[in-house]
Order: sequence, then C-alpha cells, then structure tokens
Amino acid sequence: MDETLNILVVDDDDIDRMAVTRALTKAQVTFRAIEAKTGEAAIAHLKQAQFDCIFLDYRLPDYEGLELIRKIHALKQHAPLVVLTGQGDEQIAVDVMKAGATDYLSKSRISSVTLEKVLQNAIRVSQAEVLVEMANQKIRESNELLRKQNQELELQRQQIQLQNLKLIEASQLKSQFLATMSHEIRTPMNVIIGFSQLLLRPGQENLTHYQRNMLEKIFSNGKHLLELLNDVLDLSKLEAGRMEMKPDCFDVSQAIHATVNEVRSLAAQKHLSIDVQVELDNLEVLHDVHRFRQVLVNLLSNAVKFTDEGGVAIEVQEIASDVIEIAVRDTGIGIAPEHTQRIFEAFRQVDQSTTRRYPGTGLGLAIIKALVQAMQGEIVVESVLGKGSVFRFRLPRRYGVVQS
Ligand code: ADP
Repeated sequence: MDETLNILVVDDDDIDRMAVTRALTKAQVTFRAIEAKTGEAAIAHLKQAQFDCIFLDYRLPDYEGLELIRKIHALKQHAPLVVLTGQGDEQIAVDVMKAGATDYLSKSRISSVTLEKVLQNAIRVSQAEVLVEMANQKIRESNELLRKQNQELELQRQQIQLQNLKLIEASQLKSQFLATMSHEIRTPMNVIIGFSQLLLRPGQENLTHYQRNMLEKIFSNGKHLLELLNDVLDLSKLEAGRMEMKPDCFDVSQAIHATVNEVRSLAAQKHLSIDVQVELDNLEVLHDVHRFRQVLVNLLSNAVKFTDEGGVAIEVQEIASDVIEIAVRDTGIGIAPEHTQRIFEAFRQVDQSTTRRYPGTGLGLAIIKALVQAMQGEIVVESVLGKGSVFRFRLPRRYGVVQS
C-alpha cells in the first residue's frame, strides 16, 4: 500500500490506542491515525471525514459495542470496521460480524504483523463489498429499467389489442355495410336490367336505332354493375363464413370446356389461343359446380385480360391420390415476385393507379382464394415478369371427404 491511509482508532484506554498506532507504525503501512476515546467522539469524526479503516474497542464507556457498530453503519461509512475484543470477549465475535463488522482481533494478539494483515484483509474485503454493492446497485437499476420497459410494453400490447378489436369491429361493420348495400342495390338493378331486356326483345320495331343503341348500353352496363355487386356480396359472405356450398357430382372436363366457351370470344378478340388438356382417368368430382366454374372463369378472364400475345392453357391432372390440380397458364405480362402474395388481398392490384391499362376492381383473386379455401383446396401462383403466369388451384376430388 503506497498511499497514506486514514485510520480511526477508537478506544478509551490510552495504552491500548497507543499499542495499535505503534504496531501500525512498525508495520509497512503509511497512515495517519485519528484517535477517539468515546463512541460519541468516533461518530463525530466519521461524520466529518472518510476513513480507510476503523479499529474499534468493543467496550467503550458511552456505548454498547453492537449498538455502536450499527450506528456507524447507519452513517453509510464504507470504511472496514475491525473490532478489538478484550480478554474473554472472543465469543462475541459472531455477533459483531453479524452486526456488520469486517473483522475482529483480540487485543492480546495485537502486533505489527497481525495488524498489517488484518488491515490489508479488511481493506480488501471492504473494497470487494463496495464492488459487490456497486454491482448490486447496477442490477437493481437495470431491473428497475426492465420493469419500466415491461410496463411500457404491456401498455403497448394492451393498446394494440384494443386497436385490433376496433379494427375487427370496423372490418365487420365494413363487410356488413357492403353486404347490405350490394343486396339493396341488386333489387333495383335487376329491375333496370329486366325492363331494358324487355324493351330489347325481338318484335319491338317501334324503337329507333338511337333508342335501341341507348337501351343496349343500359342493359350491358347494368349487367356489369350487377356482376360487381355480386362480387362484393360474395366476398362479404366468404369473409363472414356464410358462403354455402352445394356439392354435386359433375364431369370436370365438361365443366372446364363449358367455362372455356364463355371466354373464348374474349380470347378470340385478342387473337389468343385457349388450349385445354385434361389428364385424368376418372373425370367425376364432387363439388359445387357453380363455384368451381366461378373460380375458373375468373382465372381465365384474368389470363386473357393480362395477355396480349400467345395464349392461355388449362392443364388438369391428379397430383396426389384424389387431389386434382387445375393450372391456368398464360403468356402475359407476368407478376413481379414482391406482388405475388399481395394480389390475393381484396382490392389489391399490381397497378393501383387510376390511369391503369387493365380495368378491374381487384376483388377477383380475393374471392377466388376464399372460394378455393371454402372448397377445402388451395391456390398458388408462379410468375415471371414479362413472360407469363400460372395459377394452380388444387381441390380434393370429393368435397367434404377429409384428406388423410
Ligand atoms: P382485377 O383483375 O379486377 O384487377 P384480381 O383480384 O383478379 O383483380 O387481380 C388482382 C391483380 O393481380 C390484378 O390487378 C393484376 O395486377 C394481377 N393479376 C391477376 N391475374 C394476373 C395474370 N394472369 N397476369 C398478370 N397479372 C395478374
């Protein structure tokens, strides 16, 4: 130890105090000793200065030993405390240590060697205690910080949960609103379509060319509007899980050819070919044929809509036992990888601008996906931008039969 140690020697006996300081002088310790004869005087010194070690006589006239140790501790003095015990006081050592003393030494053993050893040991223990206390303090602080962060996270979690509930409620209200509105608009729409159809019947010669032209526009736009309304209604039914399936046995090849015929004229207008390839031994499936054709017609319409050159191909095969895959392949504009999942969300289109080249509402694929799922199947897409896309939907051969 090369620095000067501040040492407080507390003993009412002059000889004993001297014995301590003399022993310290002989030891290899550089120190400055402050002496106190009473407990009160010791406390007064401790309140004024920091010490590196305190040697404390257990028996003082004004204080009981344990009480004084506790009082020194209460002063938050970090100096190591070595209690000097008299003859016959050895048994109190345990109590002294429990009360917070760093060490104890019988006065009969005071010598330069023992004192230096005790002093060094006490200082080391005390420094270790200070380090432990600092580490504990750090742990307490980081615990407190963690507790606060946890509290904040919990608060955020609760807010997000609340927000989620609100979103779910808003989404349910939106679906409800869409369902009600489309249902309500459908009735007058059917009347408009019905009456324009009635007026367009053959034999209505009293219509001028201009009037007939106008009526045809009313009729075709009315039908288009009705299709949109039906899409919205379907989606809200599917979202609410209220879409009812009416499964029936049908010939899948026939259903596909009939559906292809619906879009053939559209494809012909763009000079696109449509090929159908059915590689099935057993053509019979059990599904809601109307919904099956709805999925296919939507995929085919998209394939034709987004293809300017080449053609569309439909390939049907049994990819696993009683699992049928219908692939609709086109040579169209393709879809970039970052869009392939999002296009299945309602109202989502790769081109969301109002000036987009291809018309549409962005509902088709959302309905298709929900319908395929309602039919216990799945739909996936593979696409290369600028080359074309393949939409594959897979269905169990028989609706309602659980797959193993
Ligand atoms: P809509 O066709 O009414 O825009 P869909 O839900 O049917 O809505 O399709 C969503 C989007 O997915 C389309 O706007 C288009 O960007 C993309 N898409 C769908 N099918 C194809 C396809 N065969 N080729 C390229 N893009 C497609």
